[in-house]
Amino acid sequence: MTHNSDEKKRPSSSCPQSGNNSGPFSASDAYYLLEHMSDGFYMLENDWTFIYLNERAYEILGRQGEDLIGCSAWDEFPEAVDAGLRSAYGQALESGERLQTEIYYKPLNTWFGVTAQPVGKDRLAVYFSDISQYKSVESQLEYMAYRDDLTGLPNRRAALELTEAMITEGNRFSVILLDIDGFRQLNDLYGHDTGDRYIFEISKRLKEIAGPEDVIVRTAGDEFMFLSDRTETGDLDRWAKDILKSISYPVKLSATFNFSTTASIGISRHPEDGETVGKLLSTADTAMFESKLQRGNCFSIYHDEMRAKLERRRIIEDDLFSGEFREKGFYCVVQPQIDGSDGRLAGIEVLSRWEHPVLGPISPFEFIPVAEDSGAIHRLTGHLLELILSEAERWLREYGDIPKIAVNVTPHLLEDKEFYANTVHDLEMYGISPDKLEVEITEESELLTSNLILSNLRKCQDAGMTVSIDDFGTGFSGLSYLTNFPVDKIKIDRFFINLIGRSDKSEAILLSIITLAEGLGLDVIGEGVETDEQLRFLIAAGCPLVQGYYYDKPLSLEVFEEKYLAGRLAKPE
Ligand code: C2E
Ligand code: CA
Ligand code: CA
Repeated sequence: MTHNSDEKKRPSSSCPQSGNNSGPFSASDAYYLLEHMSDGFYMLENDWTFIYLNERAYEILGRQGEDLIGCSAWDEFPEAVDAGLRSAYGQALESGERLQTEIYYKPLNTWFGVTAQPVGKDRLAVYFSDISQYKSVESQLEYMAYRDDLTGLPNRRAALELTEAMITEGNRFSVILLDIDGFRQLNDLYGHDTGDRYIFEISKRLKEIAGPEDVIVRTAGDEFMFLSDRTETGDLDRWAKDILKSISYPVKLSATFNFSTTASIGISRHPEDGETVGKLLSTADTAMFESKLQRGNCFSIYHDEMRAKLERRRIIEDDLFSGEFREKGFYCVVQPQIDGSDGRLAGIEVLSRWEHPVLGPISPFEFIPVAEDSGAIHRLTGHLLELILSEAERWLREYGDIPKIAVNVTPHLLEDKEFYANTVHDLEMYGISPDKLEVEITEESELLTSNLILSNLRKCQDAGMTVSIDDFGTGFSGLSYLTNFPVDKIKIDRFFINLIGRSDKSEAILLSIITLAEGLGLDVIGEGVETDEQLRFLIAAGCPLVQGYYYDKPLSLEVFEEKYLAGRLAKPE
């Protein structure tokens, strides 16, 4: 194809003062310029009628061959009012100042750059041009808004659009959400610069792990997301493990400071776990929550039971939070502790029960950890104490004496500065002596090391309450703490009792625990005693105190009262 450049350069119309550029700038010069400028130009009277339009204006507005002089701008171009021109022009006229704006004019599917220049008080000169092309470049430049500054990775907005596009294409793919555990503490303790440095390093590691087809996105402060075409469970398992491993290595944040932490991962797959962006993200989030519940450093791939499980947890949490324990079906039972050598009642343990109006009976193994995590344990235990103490007050009146009452308390409760004062207050309110109360704690590390917990327990002990260690033998790493820990009694876990007659090793451990307790002057009780053989073994070993189905399952307050307080003695069944 030949190209005649000469012809292209030639002016398309002739000049009125052809070849002569000298002399003053005249009205006809101005007119010539207006007629030949590349911008559209028109002049409006203050009643919004056109008093002049150049050729280019007719052309751009698609009105060639028409005469718009004397016509109202808003009658001819009503959509321009919606686009904001009328108010812009009004403003320009009123202020007497030039105004520039960009409008999208729908009938022509065109963006215009518009300059309105007041001429005197009553007229407005307007020049305008088609800027659609710039607008399209501009929108490409918005790409900048799709990047995360710190890591250079695509950001959340990009992730959402990309996911949308992958769904539209009908691809099979996985959404992998990753959340750094404990990042907030790093930020809070060492400042945002340090936090940023950590995230930057982690993003480099993640980039290395990602395959060429995987997209990594930084969606928020310490959250990343991968879009990957891996969808096989085995493949995802391996990959998630690699990611967790790479995160676990320490990051050097300064000459003297290395920081390492773990991450939680939640995975959902398109299309089975969601056919929209929202659904896919929410299922991945659900899986992530599951990982967080496992205390992090793990990954979960979404499945439907997870949603049901979480929904159940949410209901439990909400109901615990409402504090309406009695209304929501919450009550308590008591399990007798018996001296096996003579069958006498030695005490009771109070256990929570929940008959949920919708979910049915819920085990304390399920709701106590939720209460502990959500902080509802304070009110829940407070409610339980009131239930049992008000009953005990009545027993005391009717029978002249009450058994010692053991109540389970969790680390959160013991970390409460008010724990001791609240407990004493409750005891006083119901006229129950502190030596009738036993506090059961489990053998957990935070209990043994926290000063607040130790001081709470000491105060309880000093006031005459008994402190016992529950599930003894299951959670310790060393027993030396027993020598200076405020404790009066240990409850041997059911695990060991269960192995009596079945494991010599377990029996040997049992005997040493009992001997150890004796040596330290501690009381000892066997939990979960179910058989005659177990009872006999314990009595022979010097541990006659037992609690378990052999004597009684946990009983309602009425049954307990009837069986043990109304004058009858416990008998083996
Ligand atoms: P735990 O404190 O070790 O309580 C003993 C658990 O063993 C009770 O389960 C009891 O019903 C069960 N049990 C007692 N004797 C036998 C037996 O001979 N055989 C068998 N197989 N089981 C026996 P429960 O009531 O389901 O409570 C489970 C756990 O939930 C409790 O274990 C305790 O850790 C916790 N819990 C229950 N109520 C409360 C509460 O009000 N507050 C707190 N913080 N924890 C509670
Ligand atoms: Ca207990
Ligand atoms: Ca126990």
